[in-house]
Amino acid sequence: MDAANRTVSRALIRGGRFAAVGDNVGDQGRGVRRIDLKGRTAIPGIIDAHNHIVLVGNRPGWHTPLEHVLTIPDAIAALRKRSADVPRGEFITTIGPVAAMQFPESRLPTLQELDAVDRPVYIQAAQGGARVNSLAKAWLESKGVAVAADGAIAGPALNLALKTLRQELLTPETRKRGARDALQYYASLGITTHRDCGAFHAEGIEGGIASENVYTMHQPFLALHRDGAMPARLRIEFLHQDSPTANPPLPTLGPRLRNSFPFFGDEWIRTGGIAEFTGGGLDGLRAIARAGWRGEDHTLNLANVTQLIKDRETVNAETPIGNLRWIISHIPQFPVELADRANAIGIGVLVGWGPTRTGTNVGPPYRMLMSHPIKKGYHSDGGDITVINPWLNLYTIVTGKNLAGQPILGDQALSRQEALWLATAANKWFIWEDDLGSIEVGNRGDLAVLDRDCFTVADDDLRRTRSLLTVVGGRIVHNDGLV
Ligand SMILES: [Zn+2]
Repeated sequence: MDAANRTVSRALIRGGRFAAVGDNVGDQGRGVRRIDLKGRTAIPGIIDAHNHIVLVGNRPGWHTPLEHVLTIPDAIAALRKRSADVPRGEFITTIGPVAAMQFPESRLPTLQELDAVDRPVYIQAAQGGARVNSLAKAWLESKGVAVAADGAIAGPALNLALKTLRQELLTPETRKRGARDALQYYASLGITTHRDCGAFHAEGIEGGIASENVYTMHQPFLALHRDGAMPARLRIEFLHQDSPTANPPLPTLGPRLRNSFPFFGDEWIRTGGIAEFTGGGLDGLRAIARAGWRGEDHTLNLANVTQLIKDRETVNAETPIGNLRWIISHIPQFPVELADRANAIGIGVLVGWGPTRTGTNVGPPYRMLMSHPIKKGYHSDGGDITVINPWLNLYTIVTGKNLAGQPILGDQALSRQEALWLATAANKWFIWEDDLGSIEVGNRGDLAVLDRDCFTVADDDLRRTRSLLTVVGGRIVHNDGLV
């Protein structure tokens, strides 16, 4: 993923950075640990330039993502394996990182299936309701939560169920465990850098899957960092949703811009800008531009993105934003005319978020963007409303199919090389760190050694890709038997 797209057979990491890369990197003598990859494919550590990993790291219970299993029996096996870590009577949960669409039955496991796990099990899909087993059903019913005979929880009961789990099970220690487990899980799928794009602010404990206290939810990650135990890099964005008519104006964004620091931290945790909502309407954008910060908003349709670009043109005419690397994400509809206008004022776009979508030609227009000069990178947007697993996302980008196998991208699919470039080197611009995303001398020593060659395996097998060995800054953070 360097400018020449070289493929090499050796890399030397020293002091956390690549010190030599090529086919003729000699033996280094004593004090160097040599790892034989046995012909495996290694790629730069994957950068997810917009997801909600901090939400995933704050889930109640022994949180267990299930994005790597594609059958219900495999999901049950993963939960049973997990139960070996979990004290009897304590909850195993999966909240967000699972989707009914990833299973051939297009449903979550039933109560009867989940009863094969001898711990209380609570699964809540990114889109759709929750399912529990008998142990969890009894506990939740004792707390006043309505659970159907088949273990399904839906409607208002769903909100009460998650609120109750949070109230009863979350402590600073369980949150810290959850933060570590979340980063560790995605390290096993090759992600070495996450750019978190916030949550809906909840001052107290609430039941929404995307809700958290945005002023305290980073604490478990900061605690991990103090221990020197981060399994991946975290970049933190601040989400704001002030009303454009609030009085006084910008009640949360204003203090944020005055009292905190953009792009402050170290190689493991660093702040960014305002995302994935800026809030405060045009005046919010003006304040962000005047403060010299980066801003990002997402868009779900053509009318909305047209307005977003018009507003940014207005602000740019007053305070130039061309050097601030502002971002618009998702862009399901994004004609070339809007790409021209966004690019003219220095805006980049994040694309991805495909595996659980339905419809035809749902965008984004990957092929058009690849031949356009606008900055583009990859994001999953996963953690609450869809999956983070990069291999499910890359599968969609290269096949044009969602997890149910339905074509959703029309003629806009990309090659594997292009898709992987979006998820690695292209994201340098969005993370605003040039020394990530490619295996080059001087860059941070981040890479993933895969269990299969992602350039040649069959399309369906691409979805099952795992990392055997994930290295961040020269530190082995995940090792599945290769070493
Ligand atoms: Zn998002």
